[in-house]
Formats: sequence, C-alpha cells, structure tokens
Amino acid sequence: MADYQILIVEDEEAIAHVMESILLANHYIPVTAKTGGQALEMMQAHHPDLVLLDLGLPDMDGIEVLRQFRKQGQVPVLVVSARDQERQKVEALDLGANDYITKPFGSSELLARIRVALRQRAAALAMGGAGQPERYAAGGLTVDFDKRQVKVDGKEVHLTQIEYKIVEFLARQPGRVLTYDAIMVHVWGPFLTDDNKILRVNMANIRRKLEKNPAEPQYIQTEMGVGYRMAEEDS
Ligand code: CA
Repeated sequence: MADYQILIVEDEEAIAHVMESILLANHYIPVTAKTGGQALEMMQAHHPDLVLLDLGLPDMDGIEVLRQFRKQGQVPVLVVSARDQERQKVEALDLGANDYITKPFGSSELLARIRVALRQRAAALAMGGAGQPERYAAGGLTVDFDKRQVKVDGKEVHLTQIEYKIVEFLARQPGRVLTYDAIMVHVWGPFLTDDNKILRVNMANIRRKLEKNPAEPQYIQTEMGVGYRMAEEDS
C-alpha cells in the first residue's frame, strides 16, 4: 500500500517539527504549510490524503481554511487546537472537520486520530453509498445494525428507540468524536434549543445499561464541551 501524504498546517515551527517526525517515523509523508494561504496552495498542488489543521494561523482563521477545503472535497481534516479554542473546535467539527486533537498531544493520540480518519475515508470510498457495515464490536459490546440488537457480554440489552438511535449513530463512526449538535440533529431532527440536557439524560441511561461502571465508561467517552466518542472497534 502506498504511503499516505499528510498536509500539516501549522505556523509554530517547533510543533510542526514534532508532527513531521512522528509522521515520518510511522511511514506517512508530511508536507507543511505555515499559513492558511500556503495551505490552500498546497492542497491544490499535493492533494494530500489528510490534513492536520491548526486553528490559529497568522494570515487567516483556520475555520476559513476548512471552509475552503470543504468547497473542494472531502479530504479528512483533523483540527489541532489550543485549550482555549473550545468554541472554534466545535464550530470546525460542525463544519465537517473529522476530529480534533488538543495541544499538547502525545504521538499515540495523534496516530490514533489519523488512523480512524483514514479508515473511515477508505470505508466511505469503498462502499460508495452501498453496503454499510453490519455490526460494531468492541470489548464485550456488540451492535447488530440489521437486527437493531445490542449485546453486552453476549446478553441482549434493551434500549429505547431514542437510546438505540444514539448508540447506532456513534457505533457507525467508531473512534470519531460526534458533537452534541450533530447527535441531536440526527436523533431529534433540527433542534430549537442549544440545551443538550435531553441528550445527557439519555446518555446517562445508555451508560447505566451498557457500562460496568457508568462513571468510568469503557465504550462511550465524553469529550468535555464537545460531544461523545465511541470506542474503536477490536481489530
Ligand atoms: Ca498557531
């Protein structure tokens, strides 16, 4: 398999260097842009397989760079954000960024996000809208999408329709963060309130049914202020 080319958009040289060495050590080919303008040019020139996009760029808002990318296609974009960029991070995800990683990050976290995004991209291309995966499996949890059946350690778990819809939505995109808004729109349709209490209440019920210890969930992680992430599948 050919090595994947990854476009790093990052104005801080030290961080760009760290990313480059992590990528090179793991058989990815990095190319680096220091500004939003450069990023747009390199997108055209290189057609990378994935983009690591810093939100704080010197010449333009990273969100604007993402908007431009999305006009051109569906290249996976991982947003790289600072701790104080909560709002922009959520905005980027709702604009179609695939996931995010917060500085400072470890190499295993970065590589896991890249792996998930590339895998989902490959799956989306392979099925071209046809045959969806039939089930999800991680640890003792299985979700059978045809039968709409959820089991923990082989025992069927009874979920309400709403609870199942939430679990299925997350399980169809394992390892990827989904925002509160994205989940609420999927489950309840366009929502009139910013209040995600109804989702949190349902999630508490889901966790009581699925998790051994709902306070330390094994299957569905909370991404504080952003949304939820389903555990990656067993490989
Ligand atoms: Ca920056």
